Amino acid sequence: MNKERKLIVAGNWKMNKTVAEALALVGDLKLELANVKEVDIVVCPPFTAMCEVSKAVLDSNIRLGAQNMSENNAGAYTGEICAGMLKEFSVRYVILGHSERRQYQKESDALISKKALAAHAASLKPIVCVGETLDERVANQTEKVLETQVRGSLSGLSKGQMEETIVAYEPVWAIGTGKTATTAQAQSAHAVIRGVLAKMFDETVARRVRIQYGGSVKPANARELMSQPDVDGALVGGAALEPRSFAEIIKNSI
Ligand code: PEP
Repeated sequence: MNKERKLIVAGNWKMNKTVAEALALVGDLKLELANVKEVDIVVCPPFTAMCEVSKAVLDSNIRLGAQNMSENNAGAYTGEICAGMLKEFSVRYVILGHSERRQYQKESDALISKKALAAHAASLKPIVCVGETLDERVANQTEKVLETQVRGSLSGLSKGQMEETIVAYEPVWAIGTGKTATTAQAQSAHAVIRGVLAKMFDETVARRVRIQYGGSVKPANARELMSQPDVDGALVGGAALEPRSFAEIIKNSI
């Protein structure tokens, strides 16, 4: 697939996989994806498997991402993990503001922007998630919600930092539901996000930022979604837990 920006496909394993299961998954992925150069491949295991998976991917084209991090660098924050700790395991990316964290941990746009700044300060690339709920889509609020989330979650970033940030458009109604946005819905939301980035930063920055689609991506729909001009990859949940399906999503996107 000939794209303006290099595709990036990330697997969000969420709260799944023991260390042994994580190693089995990543071992299979290394074999399946050894020859892939056209796509940036990222896996985001749970923190408990980070150390072992980090060693396992050292000699491969698979990069490591975290599913969350603290906006603080150290201190009395029980249960939190900071950017410096992730760096110890050669983590390169960090998912921020996933809708599950927005919903269950009540993460706000303001908090997400603090986390994004902390990630950049440690040279981690944030994958910042935005997306509307079903009610918001039905009420024709999608564009407004996306603009608010993009502006709020990415406020304070420099142009250079923005270019090193990935945005994931994840309609909440499509996550883990088996309902995927149509290619037209995805393209139109991605174009809205790029338009907001152009207003916040400039056209050049907006053109350089990679915007992933997430929400029930599977081998069968990956190619069509990623062939849209503003869709620069995928953030994959359920289908990233099986080596065959995650590898096929990546191979289908080439
Ligand atoms: C996600 O949680 O980011 C996600 C896209 O999940 P799924 O692929 O299972 O819809």
